[in-house]
Amino acid sequence: MSGVNEIRSTFLDYFARGGHTVLPSSPLVPRNDPTLMFTNAGMVPFKNVFTGIEKRPYSRATTAQKCVRAGGKHNDLDNVGYTARHHTFFEMLGNFSFGDYFKPQAIELAWTLITREFGLSKDRLLVTVYADDDEAADLWRKIAGFSDDKIIRIGTSDNFWQMGDTGPCGPCSEIFIDQGPSLRGGPPGSPDEDGDRFLEFWNLVFMQYEQVEPGNRLALPHPSIDTGMGLERIAAILQGVTSNYETDLFRALIDAVSHAVGRPPEPGNVASYRVIADHLRASAFLVADGVLPGNEGRGYVLRRIMRRAMRHAELLGSREPVMFRLVPTLVREMGAAYPELIRAEGLIAETLRLEETRFRRTLERGLAILDAESRDLGPGQNLSGETAFTLYDTYGFPLDLTQDALKARGIGVDTDAFGQAMERQRKAARAAWSGSGEAATETVWYGIRERVGATEFLGYETETAEGIV
Ligand code: ATP
Ligand code: MG
Ligand code: MG
Ligand code: MG
Repeated sequence: MSGVNEIRSTFLDYFARGGHTVLPSSPLVPRNDPTLMFTNAGMVPFKNVFTGIEKRPYSRATTAQKCVRAGGKHNDLDNVGYTARHHTFFEMLGNFSFGDYFKPQAIELAWTLITREFGLSKDRLLVTVYADDDEAADLWRKIAGFSDDKIIRIGTSDNFWQMGDTGPCGPCSEIFIDQGPSLRGGPPGSPDEDGDRFLEFWNLVFMQYEQVEPGNRLALPHPSIDTGMGLERIAAILQGVTSNYETDLFRALIDAVSHAVGRPPEPGNVASYRVIADHLRASAFLVADGVLPGNEGRGYVLRRIMRRAMRHAELLGSREPVMFRLVPTLVREMGAAYPELIRAEGLIAETLRLEETRFRRTLERGLAILDAESRDLGPGQNLSGETAFTLYDTYGFPLDLTQDALKARGIGVDTDAFGQAMERQRKAARAAWSGSGEAATETVWYGIRERVGATEFLGYETETAEGIV
């Protein structure tokens, strides 16, 4: 059985042998890209290379890229702990061709890696292709020897990738594994595709067009390749487990959580251990890349991740800060691959400890209020927006933390009323400030807030990007 670290190297070495330049992961905060909150895919650092704005001395590259999907367009935060396959932080393994090889070689390279190097059995594998991509379907028939029932045609945006409204785009082909009938769920494209039985683990993107304007698409003279394979997912597959959280890396982290809270997981509380392990990684890597918990933008996403984890630690009975105690285990497991973790170890632990200490003061009281106010509610009912706002404003509960806390009981939050309470407070604050002779500061503040709101619309995440205790 190979560990996560070995699997990462196997992938990179394989593509290095195939003429790809191995590059280190780029930071989680994208350089020069105000449209994006966090790096959320392996191709992000190469955007300008794909569009031709930037030239590099190589035409093939391979990376293990740190990704966070906890804000903006891709937000998997609410999936974490509830699905076996989603994280807020994960590593995306990728190979890239910048106008070099295209579809035939990309499929060939992928197929050889998963069947020869990784030894996956053809019988368990299946693929999707974009509905009208006959070329990809043909290649899968030839290269993998798949019959037509193993090549599923999908006509939705799931199988058509676009960088934005304009720019490079093209069909994708995703590779799935059938984890067997003991798990629920149907194949991709079926009504119950969200089950755990069929697991997507690799996405091959064929960038072959350029969208110049709506309705006008040109064929690119030198098409490119972008692929993304979730390291945690391929590790689960190769280690013969059906959840990312049962891989060697997550077992080590969950053991550390058990140790820190003084008890092992039980059937009713496994999700809390998973959320803590996941959020620890996201928090640590974000701090290592220069994000600190704050009240808006990236800092507020980090704060929300940290506080959600802290609530779960509280649920497991811990009354002292625990997250910071887990940092050495994470550094031991991942520091060799990501030396920035070693360099920032002290800062990460101290940032977690401070945030835990700060939130601890209000967490317990806030939870008591949440308990009392939701006691008489049942599935389908909503917590009042006023209560959610008080929890937010006075007790530092991000809205999504309150929602997460009620989710297991099927209870929601009256988000309209929450939004109104927020607006009332904002107006009151504006009125109070207008007489204080600090108009200049105020203008700057609202300017910043509005810019953040405009570039990163996160629904209520944006609404909550201020005013925390
Ligand atoms: P899913 O449908 O499972 O949410 P996706 O289609 O959104 O995945 P892609 O954008 O195609 O994912 O990303 C490429 C690969 O990255 C996926 O095939 C998967 O292996 C991995 N991946 C994507 N999101 C996550 C996540 N939140 N946690 C762990 N791995 C992920
Ligand atoms: Mg997804
Ligand atoms: Mg998908
Ligand atoms: Mg996908």
